[in-house]
Amino acid sequence: MIINSLREWLKYLEKEEKIKHVTREVDLNFELSAIAKKLDGVAAVKFKNPRGYKIPVVSNIVYNRQIFAEAMGTSVDNMIKKYGIAQNNPLPCKSVSASEAPVMENVITSGIDLMKLPIPMHHEKDGGHYITAALLIAKDPETGERNVSIHRLHVLSKNELGILILPRHLSHFYQKAEAKNQPLDIALVIGVDPLLLLASQAIVPLGVDEMEIANALKEGKQLLVKCQTVDLEVPSEAEIVIEGKLLPKVRKMEGPFGEFPKYYGPASQKPVIEITAICHRDNPIYHTIVPATNEHLLLGGIPRETTLYELVRQVVPSVKAVHLTRGGTCRYHAVISIDKRFEGEGKNAIFAAFTSSQEVKHVVVVDSDVDIFNMEDVEWAIATRCQFCKDSIVVSAALGSKLDPSTSNGISDKVGIDATVPLNASEGRFERIRIPGEEDIKLAGYIDN
Ligand code: MN
Repeated sequence: MIINSLREWLKYLEKEEKIKHVTREVDLNFELSAIAKKLDGVAAVKFKNPRGYKIPVVSNIVYNRQIFAEAMGTSVDNMIKKYGIAQNNPLPCKSVSASEAPVMENVITSGIDLMKLPIPMHHEKDGGHYITAALLIAKDPETGERNVSIHRLHVLSKNELGILILPRHLSHFYQKAEAKNQPLDIALVIGVDPLLLLASQAIVPLGVDEMEIANALKEGKQLLVKCQTVDLEVPSEAEIVIEGKLLPKVRKMEGPFGEFPKYYGPASQKPVIEITAICHRDNPIYHTIVPATNEHLLLGGIPRETTLYELVRQVVPSVKAVHLTRGGTCRYHAVISIDKRFEGEGKNAIFAAFTSSQEVKHVVVVDSDVDIFNMEDVEWAIATRCQFCKDSIVVSAALGSKLDPSTSNGISDKVGIDATVPLNASEGRFERIRIPGEEDIKLAGYIDN
C-alpha cells in the first residue's frame, strides 16, 4: 500500500497501535512539545484538544528508522537504496481541479489570522510561535523550475511570517526575485504523508523538483492542485495550505529558535512572507515537528545518507553502508563502512562524504566488520585502527552549517578519520577476538533456575 496523505498514514499508525492519544487539554506553549518530546523515538502522538482550538495537532508521525522504512514499504537496510532509485527517477505529477482537491474544501482570503491555527511555541527561548513542518513550494522566477524545502517560520503578526533561508535552493530564487524588486510566490503545505516530507529533503541539484521525487516514491499517486492566490501547485491531499509572497527588500526580526543541533538559532533581521490565503480540508489536522527529535533529524538524515552513499559509491565501489549519527544531529557526523580493496580508498571516501552536503563536518571510515549503527564499535575502530598523523585529514575554513555555533557564521573546519586497517598489516595483528560457539549459546539452557 502506498501512503498518499497524512490521514492515510494516521490510519496506518492507529491500526499498528503506534500512535498515542491525548484527549486532555494541552497548552500550545511548551506543554504540547514537552509531551511530544517524551514520546520521541517511542510513538506518534495526537493532541485532540490543544487549549483554545478545535484543530487537533499531531507530532512524531515518523519517529525511528523502522517507522520510516514502514512508510516507504521496505526494510531499514533497503531504505536508502529505494530512496536513491526515486531520487534518480523523478516522475512528473498529475493535476486535479480545485473541486477534486480536498485541501481546497475551505478557502480563506479575508480576515486572515495565522494564530487561528494551533501553532505551538516549542522551546523556552523561542521568539514566538513557529510553523515547523510546512513544505515551502516556490518556483525559479526565471526558469519556472519548482523547489520544495522546509524552513522555520516565525509568526510575526496575523498575516506575516519571518523565515530563515539558508544558502540553499530557495535563496537562489529569492535573490533573483529581489534583484528585480519583485515578490516571490510561495505556498506552505502543512499536514502531509512521510514520503512527501522525505522527498522534500532530497539532496539534489537546483532544478530537480522534489515533488517529482515524491511522486516517484509514490509510484505516480502524487496529485497537485492550483493555488488560489499564487501561481503554484500544491499537493491536493494536504491538510492545510498557506499561500503568500516573500517580500523583496523587507526584513524583520526573526528568532531565536531552538534548532536541530539543540542550540538556539539567534534572532536577526530576516525576510518576511505576507500571507494571501489559507486553504484547508474540512476538519483539518495540524502537524508540528518538535525540533531536534528523531522526526526532525531523520527526515533530513535519510535523504542525506542516500546522497552520501551514492557519492561514496562513485569513488569506492565497495562501500557497504553509511550512517549520519544521531549524536552528530544526523547532519554533521558521517560514518562509512567499506570493504577496502586498495590502500587510500578510506581517504577517497572521506573526500566524497565532504561533497555530499554542506553540513558534513566529521567523517569516520571503517572496515565492514564494524557495525556503524553501534557507536561503541565505531569508537573501538577509532581507538585501535588509526593514528591521526597519517590517518586524518583536516580542512580549514570550508562552508559548513550556519546553525553549528562553533563555526564562524557557517565557516567550518572539516575532519576525516580513516580508521580502516592497513591492507599490508601482518596476519592476525587486527584480528578481532572471538570465542568459538559464543553466537550459538542459548543462556537459558545453562543458567540454573
Ligand atoms: Mn531543491
